[in-house]
Amino acid sequence: MEKVIIIRYAEIHLKGKNRGYFEHVFSVNLERALKGLRHELHRTSGRYLLAKFDESRTDEILSRLSRVFGVHSYSVGLCTGNSMDEIYEAALAVAPAAGTFKVVTHRADKKYSMTSMEISSEIGGRLLKDRKGLKVDVHTPQHTVYLDVRENGTALAFSAFEHGAGGMPVGSSGKGLLLISGGIDSPVAGYLMAKRGMSVEFLHFHSYPYTNDSAKEKVKELAKLLSGYTLTGKLITLNVAHIQEEIHRRCAPELNVTLLRRFMFRLAEKIAEDRSAKCLITGESLGQVASQTIEGITSSNAVVSLPVLRPLIGFDKEEIIGIAKKIGTFETSVLPFEDCCTVFLPEFPATRPKLSFIEEEEGKLDVPALLEEALSSREEFLIS
Ligand code: ATP
Ligand code: MG
Repeated sequence: MEKVIIIRYAEIHLKGKNRGYFEHVFSVNLERALKGLRHELHRTSGRYLLAKFDESRTDEILSRLSRVFGVHSYSVGLCTGNSMDEIYEAALAVAPAAGTFKVVTHRADKKYSMTSMEISSEIGGRLLKDRKGLKVDVHTPQHTVYLDVRENGTALAFSAFEHGAGGMPVGSSGKGLLLISGGIDSPVAGYLMAKRGMSVEFLHFHSYPYTNDSAKEKVKELAKLLSGYTLTGKLITLNVAHIQEEIHRRCAPELNVTLLRRFMFRLAEKIAEDRSAKCLITGESLGQVASQTIEGITSSNAVVSLPVLRPLIGFDKEEIIGIAKKIGTFETSVLPFEDCCTVFLPEFPATRPKLSFIEEEEGKLDVPALLEEALSSREEFLIS
C-alpha cells in the first residue's frame, strides 16, 4: 500500500486525435510544476498517479497542483493490490473514525470477479463491523469512501476530490504577449488566457526616470505570481519616457493617452514578433476608463496586425477583483506604484478620438525613431 495523489484531467478528453499531443503537454507541465520536489509521475488510463513523493511536502505539492491548468480534480489516496483484503486495508485507512458514510466503487477492470456494487457492499460491511462509530447513509452521508479498481491489478482508495484549476494545459494554445502594468486587470487577463492553454510572456512599459525601480519590481513580483500558472515566464521591459515627453511637448493634450497606447501596441507587436508570440493580450474592459471605449480600442488596433485578445472586455471591475483575489495577485496589484500611464496624464482625455485627428497629431512625431529608441532600452528578466 502506497500513498499517491490521483490527478484527473479535464477538457483534454475532448480533443480526439490531438489527445496524445495534449497529454504530452500536460505531463510536461505537471513535471514543471513539481520541479524540485521528489516524485514519480505515472500515467494510467484517463489520469496520472503521483507516487514516491516526500510526504512532508504534500501541502506544497497540492498547492502547486492546484494551479496547473488542465487538472480537473485531484485526490490524496492510497494505491494497493486488487485483492479484497488489500482493498479493505486501504479503505480502512481512508475511512473516517465515526459518522455516516457510504462506499462508492468505480471498476475500470471490467473483468474483475465482483461488480462495483458487490465491492461497495463487501467493503462497507467490513467497515461497519470494525468501526463501531460508523453508520451507513447512502443518500446524504457525511463521508464517502471511494474505491477505484484499475486494469493493471491495482486499486485506489480515497475520501475526497479537490477541484483542479480546469482549463487547458498551458502551451497547447500557442503563445501570447501580455501587456502587463502594475494594476489589477492585466495579471487577471494573463491568467485567463493561460487557463485556455496559452503560454504567456510579459511586456512592461516604464517611464524611467519619471517612474522608479519599484514599479518594475512590482511587475516582476506579479509576473512571478502568474508564473505559478503559466509555469515559465519571461518579462521584457521597455522605456517609453521619451515617447511620453515628445507626445506631451508636441501633441494635443487630450490625445496623450490615445497616442501613448498606439506606441505601446506598435512596440508590443515588434516584441511579439521577436518572441514568436501570436497575439497581444491586454487587461482592457469596455468603458472602464477613457481609453477603453470602442473608439479607443479601434485606434490602438489600427496600428497592429496581430490579434489583440482582451479577455476582460465584458467584465465588471468587481468581477475582475474577485478573480485577482482568487489567484493571489490582488494584494500585490494594490500596492501603491507610479504607472507610466499616469505620468503626463491629461486632465480631460479624449474618450471618442477621431482617427483623422489622431493621425494628424501623430504626424508631428518621428514615430519610427521613437520606436527604435524605445526598443533599444529593452531589458529581459527570467521569472521563476
Ligand atoms: P491595469 O489594471 O491592467 O493596469 P487599467 O485598468 O489601469 O489596467 P489602463 O491603464 O488603461 O487600464 O491599461 C489598459 C491595459 O493596457 C492594461 O490592462 C495593460 O494590458 C496595458 N498597459 C497599461 N499600462 C501598461 C504598462 N505600463 N505596461 C504594459 N502594459 C500596460
Ligand atoms: Mg493601469
